[in-house]
Amino acid sequence: MTIPFNSLRARIRVPNIVSNYRRLCRPGGETIPVIKADAYGHGLVPVARALSKAGAATFAVGSVEEAVALRASGVPGRILSLLGPIDADQCQALWRGDVIPFVHHPDQLRLLADVSRNMDRPLGVALKCDTGMRRLGFTRGDAAEAARIIAATPGLNLAMLSSHLATADDPGDFDYVEAQIQEFTAIRGQLLALGLSFQTNLANSAAVLAHPEAHFDSRRVGISLYGGNPFQGTPLAHLGQGLVPAMEVATRIVSVHDLAAGQSVSYGRTFTAPTDTRIAVVAAGYADAYGRSLSNSGFMYLRGVRVPIRGRVCMQLTAVEVSEVPDVRPGEEILLLGGQGENAITPDDLAEWWGTISYEVLCLLGLNPREYVE
Ligand SMILES: *Cc1c(COP(=O)(O)O)cnc(C)c1O
Repeated sequence: MTIPFNSLRARIRVPNIVSNYRRLCRPGGETIPVIKADAYGHGLVPVARALSKAGAATFAVGSVEEAVALRASGVPGRILSLLGPIDADQCQALWRGDVIPFVHHPDQLRLLADVSRNMDRPLGVALKCDTGMRRLGFTRGDAAEAARIIAATPGLNLAMLSSHLATADDPGDFDYVEAQIQEFTAIRGQLLALGLSFQTNLANSAAVLAHPEAHFDSRRVGISLYGGNPFQGTPLAHLGQGLVPAMEVATRIVSVHDLAAGQSVSYGRTFTAPTDTRIAVVAAGYADAYGRSLSNSGFMYLRGVRVPIRGRVCMQLTAVEVSEVPDVRPGEEILLLGGQGENAITPDDLAEWWGTISYEVLCLLGLNPREYVE
């Protein structure tokens, strides 16, 4: 679903995602692209298709519906649903679409076992363990029992053991990563001792870049595929070097005018010009998923220059100061995200000004009409 009737265009460079994928592949085991939430705003099917051509054999999406949509697209490969089924209809869709669900609760297992009785083939499932996120998953105390139930149910088999790291991108909290790895390794040991065999994955983007002990035989990478650096702003920022963003967001300038010293612009008069100031009014606002918290703190990119937002971001308009850029005209293109050279605006830059993370910036701006470019 895109935002209709606006001037914003999210331009997606799928080859950049492929280049990031190659950079994230490691010898030994599989790198699984995470393409949930419409591939973090970049488009589920185009991204999956390109990564499949580049060698990806398994894809992780969020909801069962996303998995069904990906299966219907004809892109080959295994599909994981990270959220798993929440009712019998979704269970049936898993069998129809040949989708491997994450299973995090005994009730889900019972539901799957019930539905499996009417199916003509077993379904592979991924056992999701809680090793410290405290969100979803079986803990060390009940993971082995859940695995035993799966193995004993004719309609199910254990395809994968997974867990998710809470602090892999925070160098100040790597002890917690170590504790989660230990907990996960202990659970894995219990399942191996039952004689089960399965694929194992724990690592997200940050762990692929910084925690080789978390790699096991497969990894799930999301944000880094789209050029987000999980370590931006930390002493480990160099680990994300070479990852390239794949989304540029463009819109147009509606009007240009001058403010005399002492005049203010936009609602609430939160910016007053200290001296004569040239303002460009840009067709972008919070209705276009451009965050209002960028008011007086963000920048746009115009002809190689970062131009600062002045005053409040409105519903469909935002003012920027263009005093430093000569002869700016209505109709001219301006970038909210992207650009060339040192002044380019990365998803991490925009996230910092916005007061959020690159994930949210990409998911939200990716709701705008998209165009695919080389
Ligand atoms: C989103 C997600 C990932 C990917 O995380 P990134 O930080 O984007 O690499 C991996 N595993 C699970 C379970 C997820 O939900």
